[in-house]
Amino acid sequence: MSRVSRADAVVVVVGAGHAGVQVADSLCEGGYHGPVLLLGDEPGLPYQRPPLSKDVLSARDEPGLLPLRGERHFADRGIDYRPDAVVTGIDRARRTVLLASGQEIGYASLVLATGAAPRPLQVEGSERAGVLPLRSLADARALRAALQSARTAVVVGAGFIGLEFAAAARKRGVDVAVFESGDRVLARAVSVGTSLHIMQVHRAMGTTVLVGEGPVRLEGAGGADGAVRAVVGSRGSRHPADLVVVGIGVRPRDDLARGCGLAVDDGVVVDEHLRTTDPAIFAVGDCARFPSPAGPLHRLESVQNATAQARHVARVILGAGTAAYVELPWFWSVQGPVTLQIAGLAVADDESVTSGYPDGGGFSVLRFRGDRLIAVESVNRPADHAAARRVLAGTERPTAAQAAAPGFCLKEHAGRAVAAVRRPHGLAG
Ligand SMILES: Cc1cc2nc3c(=O)[nH]c(=O)nc-3n(C[C@H](O)[C@H](O)[C@H](O)COP(=O)(O)OP(=O)(O)OC[C@H]3O[C@@H](n4cnc5c(N)ncnc54)[C@H](O)[C@@H]3O)c2cc1C
Repeated sequence: MSRVSRADAVVVVVGAGHAGVQVADSLCEGGYHGPVLLLGDEPGLPYQRPPLSKDVLSARDEPGLLPLRGERHFADRGIDYRPDAVVTGIDRARRTVLLASGQEIGYASLVLATGAAPRPLQVEGSERAGVLPLRSLADARALRAALQSARTAVVVGAGFIGLEFAAAARKRGVDVAVFESGDRVLARAVSVGTSLHIMQVHRAMGTTVLVGEGPVRLEGAGGADGAVRAVVGSRGSRHPADLVVVGIGVRPRDDLARGCGLAVDDGVVVDEHLRTTDPAIFAVGDCARFPSPAGPLHRLESVQNATAQARHVARVILGAGTAAYVELPWFWSVQGPVTLQIAGLAVADDESVTSGYPDGGGFSVLRFRGDRLIAVESVNRPADHAAARRVLAGTERPTAAQAAAPGFCLKEHAGRAVAAVRRPHGLAG
């Protein structure tokens, strides 16, 4: 591995979330001896996002900070971490970034790890007080404070964030209604079977789930700027709301890239090495749109994607990685009694074969494109998820017919597949 120690070998990482922190760490672990600057626009230490829609909201006691790394971590590694550092522009010709403070910092390599921002709701009344997004620690604290006194809440959008919030709010005894304009919950992420199961679980928790109905108007107390009090849906239903959580997806924070003329297409466009159209600039995590081995460009929103891409870019900067970025995506979500884990990427048209017990004990849905297993959704089946990741990383995948056979067990299949790889060619048994 080459070691870079020239004074001009500054790596600037913009964004101190899961991806940015991992880039800085992996550079240090890989022996990078040039300066590494980690610039984040939020205050304090970088923190974990997943608990913000889970334990942070449902815990009775105020949860502590959720730092991604300990207080001394960055100083101990010689990483120059700067909170409250808002990057406002990039000068590619001079290889500098400009900060809101007026400071300019030169770079040899620049990594954009700027994440994503919640899409705002755009219906009448959505600017009222009590209508809140859920992305940052500050958002979660505001929601947690609102939940102390709220009796009713409406969630707009039945994606992961909205449904996790709904489960946490129910746990606190709040009456919750979820508006989803699509025809099912988690439609972009899971099969019809898993989607229906999760909707039933939320209904069993006491949440009103309205599919095929989006909000048309948010009503409030007093005048037009009074706090929200109710949400009116496109089919005429009206739900009281002491607060409204907007979970209708995110837009990648690609404005810095656009501003300096890099290719952008709902995310910063990168090649198979996660390089932008400028070879000195990379993009990773939620803000990056990258090529998949199958062809189309993807943008993924998960901790696994952020950290795996960060490690890859660090290897490229260190001169230690020439292979294309190829990693199996995986994801998890916790919603009340359900832990959902997904390995691989499927789309709505892919076939589904269910293994296990949707009525109790957990199950997995194996997703096939043609006869090729491409993804596995596991509900309360952590062993299946672990097996799925091994199977999808290898070549010995079960066919749809094998998966549908009585007694099929993904974990056993994974065990046999590993044994087959280890066994020398030509030997039986
Ligand atoms: C509430 C919530 C729950 C989640 N739960 C899960 C889960 O259970 N499982 C899972 O796999 N994933 C989950 N995710 C998704 C996961 O957290 C993200 O995919 C991950 O945080 C992406 O990391 P990132 O570093 O790309 O972006 P981020 O974590 O968003 O970090 C980007 C950082 O860059 C900063 N920034 C942006 N622009 C600038 C600028 N110009 N100057 C300086 N700084 C800037 C941002 O403020 C932010 O701090 C969840 C996300 C949220 C919001």
